[in-house]
Amino acid sequence: MLGNLATVSYIGATILFILCLGGLSNQETARRGNLYGIIGMAIAVVATVFGPQVTSAGLPWIIGAMVLGGGIGLYAARVVQMTQMPELVALMHSMVGLAAMLVGYATFIDPAASAGMEGAEKAIHEMEMYIGILIGAITFSGSVIAFGKLSGKIGGKPVLLPGRHWMNLAGLLIIIYFGREFLHAETITAGMTPMIVMTIVSLLFGVHMVMAIGGADMPVVVSMLNSYSGWAAAATGFMLSNDLLIVTGALVGSSGAILSFIMCSAMNRHFISVIAGGFGSDGGTPAPAAGGSAQPAGEVSPILAAETAELLREAKNVIIVPGYGMAVAQAQHTVNEITQFLRGKGVNVRFGIHPVAGRMPGHMNVLLAEARVPYDIVFEMDELNEDFPATDVTMIIGANDIVNPAAQDDPTSPIAGMPVLEVWKAKTSIVMKRSMASGYAGVDNPLFYKDNNRMLFGDAKKMLDEVLVALKS
Ligand code: NDP
Repeated sequence: MLGNLATVSYIGATILFILCLGGLSNQETARRGNLYGIIGMAIAVVATVFGPQVTSAGLPWIIGAMVLGGGIGLYAARVVQMTQMPELVALMHSMVGLAAMLVGYATFIDPAASAGMEGAEKAIHEMEMYIGILIGAITFSGSVIAFGKLSGKIGGKPVLLPGRHWMNLAGLLIIIYFGREFLHAETITAGMTPMIVMTIVSLLFGVHMVMAIGGADMPVVVSMLNSYSGWAAAATGFMLSNDLLIVTGALVGSSGAILSFIMCSAMNRHFISVIAGGFGSDGGTPAPAAGGSAQPAGEVSPILAAETAELLREAKNVIIVPGYGMAVAQAQHTVNEITQFLRGKGVNVRFGIHPVAGRMPGHMNVLLAEARVPYDIVFEMDELNEDFPATDVTMIIGANDIVNPAAQDDPTSPIAGMPVLEVWKAKTSIVMKRSMASGYAGVDNPLFYKDNNRMLFGDAKKMLDEVLVALKS
């Protein structure tokens, strides 16, 4: 009876997770999608905790762990700044990887987990453990490095070891060899050495893989680790014979893989080249550290907030391009106020969103939605790129790499080939940032020196507040 109830709940939760993913694919339905996800997860947790697989002796432990973990999660979610969200997500991916590793080892050393298994069944069970720990270890160490890179604790520059592809190949062969040893081991003690060697190699592979990724390719890694965390969860589901975990993990894994593919297309990168590491840095100009001062490559023309307001007032068509700096400055609400004001005066204001703007997929959409910018004036890069020549003013708010013409003009640039928003084609472009520092990819931006470009130096929120005051005066 309890088993049937758990199965029905699992099916219900699975349907809700699918609806959740469907909802999250569009910003207008994202809130509803999120709600489906929350309800689905609540059902899944209750059904698992009170289901037939949990004994009454284990219940207090599980509830205690949930209170502790839930408390930490709640605290982290409350104190995290919007700009720290990407690194928090990376940290959470690492937790999924760690959990998969721990469950793998726990299943391995628990004789009851494989009691009565023989032949093919035993081999499949052992492969589940081996592969589960493998994926978990790569996800764990890769996500920890991604956390370091996203939080600035580790430099964004790719670390390209000599013969790195050979090292990866050697790692793969070691893992396959020890996998064979593990399957042939008769006892837990004999299987432990291959398992530990594989875990160490996988951990090193995760570190090596993410360390070798160049700054501008990080979005692909973030979504790829998201995918890995899903596969790690699915592997855990196989080890624990939990159907819901398998399905949920597969959903996260495959949607993350699709997102990685979309990210690669958006960046004009090949998936394999990105995960093999260092793409875009071979033979190109080495990128200086992100945020570093670029060599001045020309004269820039500064502009004041009042002059910016004047240009906006006279414009008929305005495109706003937000980037990571808008998130840092928390300028989205002022951006919305300016938008409302200009629209009230009959100006056609639209937003151009680059797929890798900010530090996580959908970062800008979340901020604009939070500020209640109408969805129907928010466009993807491809939908808007042809409209720049007919635009009077483009306002680039704390964006840099995503509007860098070097991606098109300079084949030696580390971001060469990455599609960008062609803001320089407008009559006037105005870049709002605090200094001449480079963006995440650490490359100079020739846009700043173009004749039709103006630089509005300062914190984006402060400068936009001044623009708003000037507009209203
Ligand atoms: P960039 O990092 O290229 O540029 C952001 C700019 O914002 C900086 O040049 C900085 O200049 C400016 N800035 C910072 N703080 C403020 C502030 N308070 N007020 C005004 N300006 C500010 O961001 P983009 O959004 O243009 O591009 C995203 C980059 O991040 C890409 O390289 C992408 O590959 C990478 N990335 C994206 C991820 C994703 O999933 N979206 C994940 C990981 C990396 P200054 O210091 O002079 O103010």
